Amino acid sequence: MYYDSVETLERGELENLQVDSLKKTIAIAMRSPYYRDRLAGFDLDEIKSVADIVKLPFTTKDDLRSQYPYGLLTLPREDYVRLHASSGTTGTPTAVFYTQADLDRWADLVARSMYACGCRKSDVLQNMAGYGLFTGGLGFHYGSEKLGMITIPAGAGNTKRQIKLIRDFNVTVMHIIPSFALYFASQVREAGFDPAEMPWRIALIGAEPHTEETRRKIEEMLHIKAYNSYGMSELNGPGVAFECTEQSGMHIWEDAYIPEIINPETGEHVEEGEIGELVMTTITREGMPIIRYRTRDLTRFIPGQCPCGRTHRRIDRITGRADDMMILKGVNIYPMQIEQCLMSMPEVGHNYLIELYKEGLTDQMRVKVEIKDEFFVEDMRVLQGLQKKIAKRLHSEILITPRVELVMHDSIPKSPGKAIRVKDLRNEE
Ligand code: AMP
Ligand code: ZN
Repeated sequence: MYYDSVETLERGELENLQVDSLKKTIAIAMRSPYYRDRLAGFDLDEIKSVADIVKLPFTTKDDLRSQYPYGLLTLPREDYVRLHASSGTTGTPTAVFYTQADLDRWADLVARSMYACGCRKSDVLQNMAGYGLFTGGLGFHYGSEKLGMITIPAGAGNTKRQIKLIRDFNVTVMHIIPSFALYFASQVREAGFDPAEMPWRIALIGAEPHTEETRRKIEEMLHIKAYNSYGMSELNGPGVAFECTEQSGMHIWEDAYIPEIINPETGEHVEEGEIGELVMTTITREGMPIIRYRTRDLTRFIPGQCPCGRTHRRIDRITGRADDMMILKGVNIYPMQIEQCLMSMPEVGHNYLIELYKEGLTDQMRVKVEIKDEFFVEDMRVLQGLQKKIAKRLHSEILITPRVELVMHDSIPKSPGKAIRVKDLRNEE
């Protein structure tokens, strides 16, 4: 059961399609001031196979920023109907423009993604992502309508109202940010409802890095199946790569994107199955095509065929962004290593915060960990034992011993949007 026959296209045919679409994309891109310059003199005949994509230059986030706001547009401004922007908290944002045809194709990719993990026309979807410049709101909204589901634009936050809508309208699918899903689960219980009795069956979770342990926790706490969804504004938004019901990696929709995985230092392709930086080329966008975009997201191709029969390659869950790497005492550490460790411990609740601070001249790490109520006892010795246990576990994973601070359930501030996992206080304390 597939949404589109292209999902099972034989690899050779899929690659032929990619070559054709790539050539068209290059020709279209050259109409924008940026790529006209960047690709000046490039001969389309140089592209004979997908592998020839390496002849093209990379595009970085800084390149996009330098073109803010209009430098990447390929058409007159009146041909565009929508604008989104990336969630970057610092510096110039990157603006993304869509024509109506781009929006239609995007909605189709999102609908296809939702279908792959079991959503059907008869489902009711509650979209708990923020509506606004963030693509998770409108992106899921139009995809869901395209699939034919009743779509509730609940937006982020206001847990009480979310629960009421879910119960009143028998919501079967939720789109929710993973870090918020755990908080939401405990709110549902606190409001006196048993998650097992709720009408939902599917949670679409994505937009931020999270571990397999977190997914399992969400599934257990909400009594739901949770599917990983990957996307970014520069590549439309959601609907770039999505899990199917196998839950073993996310299919990248290769009729719409050409994915590559490179060594971020050398820019060369890594060996099959190795982790590196995901590089993506859009091959169906007319308004703002992007060529060899350095996403900064780290992942790997999962070797082999998915049992679901889709031929589009799968990527592993994102282990983090190249920019997320912290270096402490000469050791490279990613926040997801810490999350993986914490979320596998039964005493740990659903939130944590990593703080970097200075002690004298050296950088130190403090990890604040929410502890489940039943483990938050008055006996100091027990708590200290737990603190030590967590520190030891973390040491075995990240090779340094951070200071561990146990805090109460739901005491770390929580936003309904993307979670901030690391606070850098090195210039403040
Ligand atoms: P934005 O364009 O502001 O929505 O941010 C896109 C970024 O969010 C991506 O580059 C990733 O770093 C992150 N992201 C989105 N989806 C996922 C996911 N499923 N797993 C991990 N990170 C994700
Ligand atoms: Zn599959």
